[in-house]
Amino acid sequence: MTPEVSPARLMGRVEALGRIGALDGGGVCRLALTDADKAGRDWLVSEMRDLGMSVFVDAIGNIWGIRPGQRAGAPVMVGSHIDSVATGGIYDGALGVLGGLEVVTALNVAGIETETPVAVAAFTNEEGARFAPDMMGSGVHQGALVLEEMLTVQATDGSGVVGEELDRIGYRGNDAPITPAAYLELHIEQGPVLEAEGVRIGAVTGVQGIHWTEFVVEGQTNHAGTTPMALRRDAGQVAMRIGLEADQIAADAGPPQVATVGVFEISPGLVNVVPERARLTVDLRNTDGAALVAATERLIGRAEAFAAEAGCVLTHRPLARFAPVEFDARLVDRVEAAARTRQLSVKRMPSGAGHDAQMFAPNCPTAMIFVPSQNGLSHNIKEHSEEADIVAGTQVLLDLVCDLAGASS
Ligand SMILES: [Zn+2]
Repeated sequence: MTPEVSPARLMGRVEALGRIGALDGGGVCRLALTDADKAGRDWLVSEMRDLGMSVFVDAIGNIWGIRPGQRAGAPVMVGSHIDSVATGGIYDGALGVLGGLEVVTALNVAGIETETPVAVAAFTNEEGARFAPDMMGSGVHQGALVLEEMLTVQATDGSGVVGEELDRIGYRGNDAPITPAAYLELHIEQGPVLEAEGVRIGAVTGVQGIHWTEFVVEGQTNHAGTTPMALRRDAGQVAMRIGLEADQIAADAGPPQVATVGVFEISPGLVNVVPERARLTVDLRNTDGAALVAATERLIGRAEAFAAEAGCVLTHRPLARFAPVEFDARLVDRVEAAARTRQLSVKRMPSGAGHDAQMFAPNCPTAMIFVPSQNGLSHNIKEHSEEADIVAGTQVLLDLVCDLAGASS
């Protein structure tokens, strides 16, 4: 008997978890390690136990349940996160975890014993909305972040410390982290591409690299009427040229290079005063690591030239430097094949956002399955994905787990 996803069961769980931390008007607030996050965790653990899974919690509060296989050893892991941003949707992260519960339920119902164990995981503080950095739990679990450092991280709003909050909600465990035989993550796209192209499934090839750079320009305030252009040291002009250069870099490179000036401040900020100081940030992203490095080098080189021409002093510092992550090409092929077998249109695509999966990619075969997001919206209470797409993505996940874990009834 081929195990099949039950839409009613799957959507029932989506709704049940969506009620925990629910906001008036839709969406959820389950910021990491808050009472709402604890309630979500308690619900998840009880679902895992009801499915007959053994439940584990590590020292950073990651939760995983294991359904045993015929053989002991590394499980095929399905995972994501159940924390949210303050005004989050009910699908972001939750889908990967609830899809995992549905996989296990379908295997149970079909009476299938897989050869290797199957694990379902929820990682602590993927969002980074209350504690920075994001992907904290999966990063610690896979050795990219240092546990002791993460336990001392203060909330950005001063509302607590990771280690103390883990103790408070009762999720500082002592189970040893595991490296799975393979890692699969089902997630909403959080972007507009699948919907716009009418494609049902995204076979995610990797996560694009991210370079954030902050620029500060120091010039001199002066009278906007009496100071000739050639005699100014206008920090605002330099900042505008840097911002336009970022835009030009993206235009010259073309997709997938993107550039965003998210912070732009000039002071004193008066209509008739030449600005003496400017601060701006540039977010550059690309799936090609070398192209991303080149883009950042061009931006910094040009920024220095603009400042020198204007007689201003430029300082700059990196706020983030993440190299692109490539998922396992053969596993991505299998995602694509699994979708086609179910007669679902599928597209290979990079992820624009970061995900727990990228922490696993260096250590085990890893892939992701995207389903369309209505209007590309996420981190928004209006976030929505169609039931048919959620079911389709979960069925692909289930078929892949059967394939990888060795299912026979
Ligand atoms: Zn997410």
